[in-house]
Amino acid sequence: MVHISVVVPCFDESEVIEAFHAALTAALEPAGATFEVCYVDDGSGDGTMDRLRGLAATDPRVRYTSFSRNFGKESAMLAGLRMSRGDAVVLMDADLQHPPELVPRMLELHGHGYDQVIAQRDRTGEGAVRSSLSRAYYRLVRRFMDVEVVDGAGDFRLLSRRAVDAVLSLPESNRFSKGLFSWIGFDTVSFTYQNVERAAGRSKWGGRRLLNYGIDGLLSFNSRPLRLAIHTGLWLFLSAFAYALWIIANVILDGVDTPGYATLITAIVALSGVQLATLGVIGEYVGRIYHESKRRPHYVVRETNEPAGARTAPGTVDRAAVRTTPRLEAAGRTRPES
Ligand code: UDP
Ligand code: MG
Repeated sequence: MVHISVVVPCFDESEVIEAFHAALTAALEPAGATFEVCYVDDGSGDGTMDRLRGLAATDPRVRYTSFSRNFGKESAMLAGLRMSRGDAVVLMDADLQHPPELVPRMLELHGHGYDQVIAQRDRTGEGAVRSSLSRAYYRLVRRFMDVEVVDGAGDFRLLSRRAVDAVLSLPESNRFSKGLFSWIGFDTVSFTYQNVERAAGRSKWGGRRLLNYGIDGLLSFNSRPLRLAIHTGLWLFLSAFAYALWIIANVILDGVDTPGYATLITAIVALSGVQLATLGVIGEYVGRIYHESKRRPHYVVRETNEPAGARTAPGTVDRAAVRTTPRLEAAGRTRPES
């Protein structure tokens, strides 16, 4: 019999967390599975933590960790994966958008030997603008990224123990899990379910945060934008060379001619634009190198019901270090990663 860990990142989910827990236990108990639920409170400010404490008091299968501030969903998922002890781990959102009824089906597929089982949502009920933007993004990503990322295949998935260990062995601090899950490989299967609206509370992914997340994803999985800069440079050089030949031929055939002012300005402005954009791309990568080179932990733990030994697991920080961490309250709250 497999032991299952359910990992649930929660950020300001006090309105749904209890309903979620009830639905989850109702779905898993009849399936005869032994399970634990690892809740990770991502620095919520709305009493999610009190609810988690309450759940842990009544249900011994509840384990929780609470961050000192909002570190972003990626960090919360990482903390949950580190907490998990099960032979299979299911990642779920707390807002009931990932229907717990589907978990037994995932377990069944896992029983057939799959290391990753992805529940892929369709886009029913989503705004037309958002869904068409997402589609365009995934088309772009498929062309440019070195790993395969599928539209609608979010974080609702089951990972076997060895898949979890593979994900945890990746040391990068800039984590784009969709890419990481695809990078580790293993036998993967997916099935589609109908998209559900959030049960209560509101989505934490505004347009801007989503855009930044998208850029992160594109940049953290390849160096093709840099390659693109080289290609642009080469093409520009070749066309400049051809243009120069044309001017020389003109001078030889018709004598000296005054070259156009407009051509000059256009060339200067266009080239400066290309250079600035390229600098920006390089800057993004340098920033990432800087970020990675600091080797900061992914999150700081404020509170947990884990036994003391687990508290010093990698990624957590001892108290002395926490005290010297600068206060990042309101500002840090809106950033997905920092
Ligand atoms: N979440 C989190 N930290 C964040 C933002 C979101 O842990 O900074 C959690 C949130 O509590 C939820 C899941 O990630 O369980 C998905 O978030 P949300 O429902 O807001 O995203 P959406 O479903 O709109 O993409
Ligand atoms: Mg949601």
